Amino acid sequence: MSIKENLELINSKIEKACIKAGRSKDSVLLCAVSKFHPAQSVIEAMEAGQILFGENRVQEACQKFEEVRGTNPQAELHIIGQLQRNKVKHAVAVAQCIQSVDRIELLDEIEKQCAKIDKKIEVLFELHTGEESKSGFDSVDGMHEALKKCADGDYPHIIPRGFMTMAPNTDDELVVRKSFSTLRENSVYLQKEFPQFDLSQLSMGMSGDFEIAIEEGSTMVRVGTAIFGQRQY
Ligand SMILES: *Cc1c(COP(=O)(O)O)cnc(C)c1O
Repeated sequence: MSIKENLELINSKIEKACIKAGRSKDSVLLCAVSKFHPAQSVIEAMEAGQILFGENRVQEACQKFEEVRGTNPQAELHIIGQLQRNKVKHAVAVAQCIQSVDRIELLDEIEKQCAKIDKKIEVLFELHTGEESKSGFDSVDGMHEALKKCADGDYPHIIPRGFMTMAPNTDDELVVRKSFSTLRENSVYLQKEFPQFDLSQLSMGMSGDFEIAIEEGSTMVRVGTAIFGQRQY
């Protein structure tokens, strides 16, 4: 199937999952994860109406999106992979959102680099809910501390927008569901603690589990393989 057909299929599955969960069909955004796929595939997806993309390696993202934006300047990019400090400068230059904020030190560096180029950037705080994944804050306390610093005015260039997680890679649906409901419960608590921010984004769900994620309250699913095919590493 073509990228266009895959996108149509995923969008209709998202819509069905929304209906099943009693949610409006535009309450879930699709982030098309284009890592390991060429700029041409991104351009093809854009021609089919997709605007938002996710990449997890900064260098690859910069090269690819320079080319993509030469064709279509509307492309929106989120960084979704674990971010090293020395990559932050390029990450904030190329992306509209960093979804994988997993430590205070990273916020310090994002603020520093954004201040230099006078850019405001959105961030999501990643929670570690799965044994397989290494990234993410280990607990709600770490995210609370990070948001407290935002609330104290430490990061004038950073706009907190919500939370992200990756479920464990397992067929056990209960375990996957638990990962998503944990993120949702933590987000409800943190939104109450920090009412001055709009923390409504819940980025959760990938090719294999996005329908479960939507049932559990996801507002953004990150789908790669089901749109672009298998990755050649
Ligand atoms: C690769 C990746 C995805 C997409 O995974 P698929 O299974 O290909 O849909 C989503 N989120 C993150 C953080 C990723 O690294």
